[in-house]
Amino acid sequence: MADPITPVLTKRWLSPNSWRLSTYEQLEGYTAVKKALRKPQEQIVALIKDAGLRGRGGAGFPAGVKWSFMPPNEDKPHYLVINADEGEPGTCKDIPLMMADPHSLIEGCIIASYAMRAHHCFIYVRGEVLHCIRRLQAAVREAYDAGYLGKDILGSGFDLDIVVHAGAGAYICGEETALLDSLEGRRGQPRLKPPFPAAAGLYAKPTTVNNVETIATVPYIVNGGSDWFREMGTEKSPGPKIFSISGHVEKPGQYEAPLGTTLRELLELAGGMKDGIPLKFWTPGGSSTPMFTADHLDVPLDFEGAAEAGSMLGTTAIMVFNETVSVPWAVMKWTQFYEHESCGKCTPCREGTFWLAQVLERMVEGRGTEEDIDTMLDVCDNILGRSFCALGDGAVSPIESGIKYFRDEFLALCEDNKAKQSESALVGAQA
Ligand code: NAD
Ligand code: SF4
Repeated sequence: MADPITPVLTKRWLSPNSWRLSTYEQLEGYTAVKKALRKPQEQIVALIKDAGLRGRGGAGFPAGVKWSFMPPNEDKPHYLVINADEGEPGTCKDIPLMMADPHSLIEGCIIASYAMRAHHCFIYVRGEVLHCIRRLQAAVREAYDAGYLGKDILGSGFDLDIVVHAGAGAYICGEETALLDSLEGRRGQPRLKPPFPAAAGLYAKPTTVNNVETIATVPYIVNGGSDWFREMGTEKSPGPKIFSISGHVEKPGQYEAPLGTTLRELLELAGGMKDGIPLKFWTPGGSSTPMFTADHLDVPLDFEGAAEAGSMLGTTAIMVFNETVSVPWAVMKWTQFYEHESCGKCTPCREGTFWLAQVLERMVEGRGTEEDIDTMLDVCDNILGRSFCALGDGAVSPIESGIKYFRDEFLALCEDNKAKQSESALVGAQA
């Protein structure tokens, strides 16, 4: 990991044995929970609201507002579920966070569970990252042994159990309601919203689903206060954020910076473009966010800035591509991913991603026609806003933005095909 420019979430990552409880405690760990457990629950929720912490899983919904949807009484069990099913292409911030600093997530879980009156917390982790699951399980054991989990935590009277649950590697299980179905032992498919999980979530009980980075940020806000948090980032998107930079840069990795930082600034941290080959296109927040080009280097990467420039902040997974990469080829690879991961529940996404992948494969193989471009845009139109969950909308982003900025490249593939067809027709006629 490179030097962060706002070392908050990543400040312990380079310490020896950063994942051990002893290291965490030496570096101010578990000091926030001691403060939080002495305050009324409503005060913690108000603090997170005042800080303006927005969800770090992609959608940016205000975390404090989401917490306030949980019923204030305890006549039914309440649950906190951590979405650690990081699966968006290019996104790789939560797994390094859990590997390097699992106790910050656990401390955040205790504070958030206390604030929402939950006594059971589930951390739903991608099944493929066995090393991460093991590290979390070991950290949870350490926290139980030290009295941070279990009954009567630190003599506060508050009880909490944390279960680390392994998913089975389906992208759709990162969608919060599909995740809940999967956690209940069913096939993971999105549920109709509303009701939102706070009204009927896990086992139909009040539930809050939050991303790993969101919850790991909570102890810092409890210790630093909302004004300190708001000193970083922008007015509507405050705080620091972990940007995952991959692709054609000299030093790919995790870079922590305030929200609102531009790619031009982040590229400097990442050592610039690899071998000096110029940038062609990039994603601000994974493949589900419309791509940007070299003209967008100064777009502030916060929720508003990315949206005003025609994309979304998403998961801040910045995939950088240089001039050697064919846009139709990259778009085809992403579309094949969505086709494979579509859960099949709704027709626009199930059928649409299948046909989009077919058309793109044909085009990249040099068998496309100019009409295919309009056909694809028409199919995208029938998916966007007509699918059951955000996966369908995400699937059209690379195609629509790819054609918007690089239509010529798609056309060139069709022109090549046209030229080949006329040549073979001529050869046929001569024969
Ligand atoms: P969403 O906007 O529907 O919801 C965001 C959160 O706010 C949810 O927890 C939802 O329950 C809550 N919410 C929204 N409106 C509410 C209301 N009226 N009342 C109560 N709660 C409300 O977005 P989503 O479908 O959960 O997520 C989509 C995002 O996920 C995309 O923007 C994408 O960037 C991201 N994503 C992330 C990953 C990853 O690996 N981290 C993978 C795929 C997609
Ligand atoms: Fe399933 Fe796709 Fe429909 Fe979402 S949009 S419910 S992933 S078929």
